[in-house]
Amino acid sequence: MKDPYDADVAIVGYGPSGVVAALTLAKYGISAVVFERHRDIYPRARAVTVNDWTMRIFQNLGVDEPVLKCIDPQRALRWMRYDGTEIMRIEHPPSTLGIKPRFFNIYQPTMEATLRECAARHAEIEVRFGLEVVSLEQDEAGVTVTARDPATGTQESTRVRYAIGCDGGSSATRNALGVKLLGDTLDVLWIVIDCRVKRWWPDRNLLTFWSDKERPVVDIALSGGNHRWELPLKPGETEADFAAQEQVWPLLKALGVNEDDVEIHQHAFYRHHTRMADQWRVGRVFLAGDAAHLMPPWAGAGMQTGMRDAFDLGWKLAGVINGTLPEPFLDTYETERRPNAVFYTQLAVELGRIIKQELSEEEQAALNAPPPADAPEPPLIAPPVLAAGWLRGPVAHDSIVGRMVPQPVVGDTRGVMARLDELLGDRFVLLGDDVDPATLLSASEKEAWDKLGARYIAVRQQDQHTRGTDELIDLDGVLRPWLRKYGARAVALRPDRFVAAADVSGLSVPV
Ligand SMILES: Cc1cc2nc3c(=O)[nH]c(=O)nc-3n(C[C@H](O)[C@H](O)[C@H](O)COP(=O)(O)OP(=O)(O)OC[C@H]3O[C@@H](n4cnc5c(N)ncnc54)[C@H](O)[C@@H]3O)c2cc1C
Repeated sequence: MKDPYDADVAIVGYGPSGVVAALTLAKYGISAVVFERHRDIYPRARAVTVNDWTMRIFQNLGVDEPVLKCIDPQRALRWMRYDGTEIMRIEHPPSTLGIKPRFFNIYQPTMEATLRECAARHAEIEVRFGLEVVSLEQDEAGVTVTARDPATGTQESTRVRYAIGCDGGSSATRNALGVKLLGDTLDVLWIVIDCRVKRWWPDRNLLTFWSDKERPVVDIALSGGNHRWELPLKPGETEADFAAQEQVWPLLKALGVNEDDVEIHQHAFYRHHTRMADQWRVGRVFLAGDAAHLMPPWAGAGMQTGMRDAFDLGWKLAGVINGTLPEPFLDTYETERRPNAVFYTQLAVELGRIIKQELSEEEQAALNAPPPADAPEPPLIAPPVLAAGWLRGPVAHDSIVGRMVPQPVVGDTRGVMARLDELLGDRFVLLGDDVDPATLLSASEKEAWDKLGARYIAVRQQDQHTRGTDELIDLDGVLRPWLRKYGARAVALRPDRFVAAADVSGLSVPV
């Protein structure tokens, strides 16, 4: 009988979220057809940074090495006043996620091009450029996506099991689903000035937020010899006042930057949004990335949140399509990703208040006070934690559940020494502290993890011999102390390396 589906999944939009969705599905052998209305990558450099969480996703997708070649290390963040006073600084401590360094500066068009080149190697991914999706109709068995070629007016229909709208802030998918985009858009118009560097200047590699009520400025080195300034227009100023480069130059010159330092490459205007779709799933169609949420840029998290959505949804859809995960598992996509998007949106809003000098005297004093020695890492750089979702047990500051496992170097019984993820494989894994985790499970618990294709691995300390194949040696001495810190003898890890369950709160498969 003819396969009723042209592909497993349709992806609308091939920006950063769309390409990560396609790469994730392809990794698990799931076919995707991508519709992208533009033939070229969006030329404006928007996102400026990625961190260790995002790079760990790239590692998981096998694209970290090519991406590393087109991004630069980020030194530190600082919030300054024009008089030279430093309001706050965040130095990046070493990452626990096995990524060096912890933060990178990027140039979005180059990074997107690299991701697309990697995706082009997968037979599972078919990209149809120059086609605009105009409708999605779903029934119990699948989704019919209709796309139009604006040049010829011709239309084509494609039948898939599921569809993902990765089509950005003005998402046609979201509109087709009748989903509302709730929230606000601020009136202030910002100008983004992208430049090519002609000579180095002191502290160029510090991401500096020049904090000021009237003219706060983002000043950041992008990769590949690019540099970015973002400034708000003052009341009364309009786009027309900065239409030509000669009109833009005075803004840079006021910051002490001149034609000897840079050449202006392009400039654009935009407004900040704080908006979220009221539903991220309608039946067989999902929203991811800017289609689901829009946030101000102050936490550098818009694009990264979208790529994390795409990765999360990708491995879950793959499990459902491959028959290893039950269909209701797909509801955990929104349960897990929405709180994370809310967290970064709120963080961005708070960081924006510092940049715009909107803090009260008490808030400013608290910021200036030296942090206590045992203070947790600032939320902008702290390792990720899931607040809710496919987890068993409490999500709390003293619980291991919901945390991302660190990624030290480990050794296996064949003598291979590599970062943890390289030796864990792609699926669910139970890790035991000097114990075979399977021995801690009841027969029914073991059967349930077996159904998910789980591996069972004992972590031994480095002065021990391995005794079987499913053992890893904790060469950096990180994993076992980490498990002990939370009182866990064993944890269940999901394919995205978050802890789903621990023996302290029960190791049975979460429901
Ligand atoms: C000035 C600025 C600074 C930023 N800084 C950061 C930062 O530092 N860090 C960060 O993480 N993020 C940042 N962002 C946000 C980031 O750029 C976006 O969040 C990110 O590009 C969203 O990716 P996406 O794939 O979801 O959507 P998009 O990049 O918008 O891609 C959507 C794609 O869908 C296509 N499309 C749309 N409709 C259709 C259709 N009907 N049919 C077919 N194709 C369609 C479009 O052509 C496009 O290619 C910034 C944004 C701005 C504006």
